[in-house]
Parts: sequence; C-alpha cells; structure tokens
Amino acid sequence: MTPGITVISGPAGVGKGTVVQRLKRAHPEVWVSVSATTRPPRPGEVDGVHYLFTSEAEFDDMVANDGLLEWAVVHGRHRYGTPAEPVRAMAAQGRPVILEIDLQGARQVRETLPEARFVFLSPPDWSTLVGRLEGRGTESPDQVARRLETARVELAASEEFDEVIVNDELGDTVAKLVSFLSL
Ligand code: 5GP
Repeated sequence: MTPGITVISGPAGVGKGTVVQRLKRAHPEVWVSVSATTRPPRPGEVDGVHYLFTSEAEFDDMVANDGLLEWAVVHGRHRYGTPAEPVRAMAAQGRPVILEIDLQGARQVRETLPEARFVFLSPPDWSTLVGRLEGRGTESPDQVARRLETARVELAASEEFDEVIVNDELGDTVAKLVSFLSL
C-alpha cells in the first residue's frame, strides 16, 4: 500500500460517489474527505457524513482562517471546499486520502500539493452521461443543463490528470483505481 493524497474528479453524473463508496467498502483503510458546502442538503443527506453543510458566513470564516485546502464555486452556484486539517491528520497517520472534488479544486491542489495524484473519471460516452444526469432525478432541468455545460469543460481538461479511468463497469473501474493507488 502506498499512502498519499489522491484527487478524483470527473463530470457530474459520471458516478464518482458510487465508485468512491465501493472503494471504501473494499479498502476500509482509505479515508475520504468530507467537503464543506453552502449547498442545502438533498433529502437523505446527513450533515458531517455527505457534506459539512455550512452557512455563507461559516464558509467565509473557513476561507478567512485558511481552513480550506482548496475551494471553488461549482456549477456557478454554491461553494464547496476541502477542510485542510483532517486531510493533514489522516495523511500523517499514513491513511490513503481521497478528495472527490471538481476540476477547479483539482487545479488548486496541483499547486499546493504537487505530490498528490490525480485521477479523472470519464463516462463511456456523452449520451451515457446525459442519460445518467437526467435519470438521477435530483436536479431540475435547468440544473441538469448547467451540469452538462460544466461537464464539457471538465472532459476537455482530462489530459491534465495522471490517470483517466473510463467508468463503464463499476467493478472494473474500482479495480483500476485500486491498482493505480497500489492498495
Ligand atoms: P453535488 O452538489 O452534486 O454533491 O456536487 C457537485 C460537485 O461539487 C461535484 O462535481 C463534486 O466533485 C464537487 N465538489 C464536492 N466537494 C468539493 C470540494 O470540496 N471542492 C471542490 N472544488 N469541489 C467539490
């Protein structure tokens, strides 16, 4: 096992969440960062588990106190950021650390933690991504359109990453990730 910090990015709807959950189940030593966000919780989302749901003022404080490793406005709407302290603590304990963040965040981490590794999850093709985003039913048509717009930009930047994994079959994707991470 090679511990370290790994950033996983990819367009909304590509299945990042499912892949990371599967990875965690197979490798409980992996620690996945819980992001702070100003986005309101969706039904079923638990504060401190899925995200740390914050007010705008609380998020401002985290930024002002250098409490975030990176942060960005995602899909032109809400702010999302990685609390720095838990990442440092877990990495210091030798746990493999996963950050599931967007392209803007990945670029910031590339600057601040150049030793981190960067994985891009890609959909098998564009129509699969559209189908997954529309089928998920958690976003309005307006939000789906915005996410697809962001997805185009993100897909065009995939070559900036150390590894691109096409998420076609979940088991294969997780196996490729495990191999890349030397877990
Ligand atoms: P959602 O609102 O669907 O949960 O997440 C929207 C997007 O925010 C996802 O593409 C996810 O990668 C990104 N995201 C989640 N947490 C963070 C974070 O801490 N930093 C950044 N830059 N992006 C994040």
